[in-house]
Amino acid sequence: MPRPSPNHQWSNNTLGLPVVDVVVDPYLTAHLRPHQRDGILFLYECVMGMRSAGRCGAILADEMGLGKTLQSVALSWTLLKQGPYGGRAVAKRVLVVTPGSLVHNWGAEFNKWLGRERISVFTVDQDHRIEHFMASPLHSVLVISYEMLLRCLEQKVEFGIIICDEGHRLKNSSIKTSSALSSLSCNRRVILTGTPVQNDLQEFYAIIEFVNPGILGSSTSYKKVYEEPILRSRQPSCTEEERLLGEERAAELSRLTGMFILRRTQEIINCYLPPRLDWTLFCEPSSLQLELYRHLLCHRVFRACLQASMQTQTHLACITALKKLCNHPGLLHSTVKQKTDCGSIETSLYEGLVELFPESYSSGGLSTSDSGKLLVLSDLLTAIRRLSPSDRVVIVSNYTQTLDMLQDLFVHMGYNFCRLDGQTPTSQRQRLVDGFNSPYSQNFLFLLSSKAGGVGLNLVGASHLVLYDIDWNPANDIQAMARVWRDGQKKTVHTYRLLTAGTIEERIFQRQVSKQGLSGTVFDLGKGAEHTSFSISELRDLFSLMDTPCLTHDLLSCSCSMDGSSSDSLMVSKRVCQLGRRGDHMGATQKHLSMSELMQWRHFSGDAHTFSDPYLDHARNHITFAFQTTISHTKE
Ligand SMILES: [Zn+2]
Repeated sequence: MPRPSPNHQWSNNTLGLPVVDVVVDPYLTAHLRPHQRDGILFLYECVMGMRSAGRCGAILADEMGLGKTLQSVALSWTLLKQGPYGGRAVAKRVLVVTPGSLVHNWGAEFNKWLGRERISVFTVDQDHRIEHFMASPLHSVLVISYEMLLRCLEQKVEFGIIICDEGHRLKNSSIKTSSALSSLSCNRRVILTGTPVQNDLQEFYAIIEFVNPGILGSSTSYKKVYEEPILRSRQPSCTEEERLLGEERAAELSRLTGMFILRRTQEIINCYLPPRLDWTLFCEPSSLQLELYRHLLCHRVFRACLQASMQTQTHLACITALKKLCNHPGLLHSTVKQKTDCGSIETSLYEGLVELFPESYSSGGLSTSDSGKLLVLSDLLTAIRRLSPSDRVVIVSNYTQTLDMLQDLFVHMGYNFCRLDGQTPTSQRQRLVDGFNSPYSQNFLFLLSSKAGGVGLNLVGASHLVLYDIDWNPANDIQAMARVWRDGQKKTVHTYRLLTAGTIEERIFQRQVSKQGLSGTVFDLGKGAEHTSFSISELRDLFSLMDTPCLTHDLLSCSCSMDGSSSDSLMVSKRVCQLGRRGDHMGATQKHLSMSELMQWRHFSGDAHTFSDPYLDHARNHITFAFQTTISHTKE
């Protein structure tokens, strides 16, 4: 660790103690990767007030899988044992505040890296009350949930450092919790979060205000000076002047806070990972899907949307109907059946729809062949099962209703599976995940709701990942991939994104890929906020049906021979692993796919001689087109 500057010594070493070197315990450094060393150095400099005089807060916003916990453990251990002035320990006690489901996880991590003989961690739960922590001088680390914290803070305990895991939740947690935290006299404060912090500007203010109070001024002036101009500049309809002002304020905000925010993405550890083969598969819609799709597009509500006479609510209901239809027509059928009594938009959308379904639907029997994507999925799973019996697959969907349907199919096909969605109690999640990752697991499949993800879900037991439906926010898909393609993965990873050819799913994919897909409006949509709006021309695109094997390839105006051997035959993208400190800039939060990159992928028409992939060659009957790329990394 660096020695403190003369200025730092002047204001912090009032007793004139000798300055000594602080070093991270070699017991830990043996396990640290270069980016983790950088991270610990960053945290140390921040909390010691070496980066900005009098300010001791830090935000570590590394993407999941990069070892935020290990970095926090190393920082805590260093501060508990050492200090730059006379070797006096900086902190006597460490407080870790975390979501309830992770309290024990944190205790286990401290023990794992340091061993029980070195450190005594106290985790608060029903049987272990904070009074015991108070009564015993043995424990140097207290791990507590946000909920418990409130009840326990009447006890006066002094902490040398506070670490808040999933700290972006501070904004959502009750005012009481955050003010209780802020009222703690300790000013060394670290927030850990896996999401890019600048995406939500109010959340951003809340966490900055917690770690380094006052740096952004009052909440009213923040709103006026930063939040409003920046939000305005992200609206598609803003003027050039508004856009420039917004960018200027965003840059200013970045400059003010950049000193104490560190965010690294997965890319930094990619050089340790096996290659990943990404496929985007365009699936042939079934005749029932086509018939229903055309029926919906002619429906008066859809037509009214295109005449600007409808509200966003209605737009979203229409979009949801089309997306469900792409997943499986049966999802619409059961929705109609459930909602016949209320006069909602959704009900009026489905007028006359039931008559189009075959008789068999009334008895609840879903046919795989009624959904193009389901056919491809079912063929793909059969192929994986046959060619690599020990491989496992994670299947992700945005809708629990879709997961229910997939689940029925898997029962029918005789596959063992487990499932994690929003309903899964937090206490069971870790057990599910550990069970699935175990080499002895009987489960071939892991059904995952993309919204239930959240904290540290590690699914390296699987080496295939299927994104069954598409989200507006590409970050969600990237997050899903990171659950499988991450530290600990030993096999080559295959990801498959399924899209129904010519439909709204392709349009959403294109929005993800084009610049537009990154605008604030789309991110807001993902969060269910009300800022969302669609222009008529956007809606016209979304509410259309193209009879083509691949609309996206048509729109690329690519003239390749569609057999995977495009103009440049060396298509493996080799990105040099970038180790080193690399801050994130406002807006550019993650690496997304762009149109020009898509041009570089391999393009296969459904009639191509071979996809040069054994699994897909066995599962190509209903694939009309495919894009493929390989992500592999070479060490520098
Ligand atoms: Zn092409």
